[in-house]
Amino acid sequence: MRFVNFASSSSGNCYWIELERSSGKPVKLLVEAGIPYKEIVSKTIKEQLVLTDLDAVLITHSHSDHCKAAKQLAERGFKVYGNQYVCGSFREQLYPDTLKVVAPDTYVVPFRVEHDAPDPFGYVIYTDVEKILFIADNKFWKADLSSQVFDYVIIEANYDGSIMHFALENARENFDRAKEAQYKRVINSHLSLKNCEKQLLKMNLSNCKAIFLIHLSDRHSNENLFKRTIQEATKVRTFVCKKNGGII
Ligand SMILES: [Zn+2]
Ligand SMILES: [Zn+2]
Repeated sequence: MRFVNFASSSSGNCYWIELERSSGKPVKLLVEAGIPYKEIVSKTIKEQLVLTDLDAVLITHSHSDHCKAAKQLAERGFKVYGNQYVCGSFREQLYPDTLKVVAPDTYVVPFRVEHDAPDPFGYVIYTDVEKILFIADNKFWKADLSSQVFDYVIIEANYDGSIMHFALENARENFDRAKEAQYKRVINSHLSLKNCEKQLLKMNLSNCKAIFLIHLSDRHSNENLFKRTIQEATKVRTFVCKKNGGII
């Protein structure tokens, strides 16, 4: 797998992912298009990638930090896959727990996650060579993934529970209702570090070569702590995706 992070936060998400196939060239996917189209173009050029090489674009849900450029990509002829709320009639519709062939030897199985958008998905994506899990904004998911052997896992780790708890208490003490509501929304719709770790430990990671943590909160996370915590718990090499691209 080749994984390039273009953007990763509540301001925008976009990931270039290539998976090996036995038949020849790797399949090239853009997962999430939550930054302006122009920025996607400039990021591909900077990374020496060719946008028109893309086989498919996958979007997890209809929040703009995940689908901002979906419509423009569809209008330019890219195959954009997502639920019925993503970019109107242009997208190729996906249904939960229903396998879709998105390119030769390339399969996607969407599954439902809990998040405050209509029908948000997580994706199991696989070719005849590699299998990955991609899961962005969610509070939780019910699908049992324990029988699947993932080569790579890309997963949200949004906030640290104790940092968030402190911020929430502070907002309450200061009667800052807007902040209080905002923090409560995050707690009810995003994955904490603790729950990210719990979900990972339910998976079969015996063949997992790396975990990529995405969508970290600006104020309520800590890149080094998150990387270390997940790496120590899972014994799998762990990377953190930076807000404006790149990994550490
Ligand atoms: Zn988001
Ligand atoms: Zn969202």
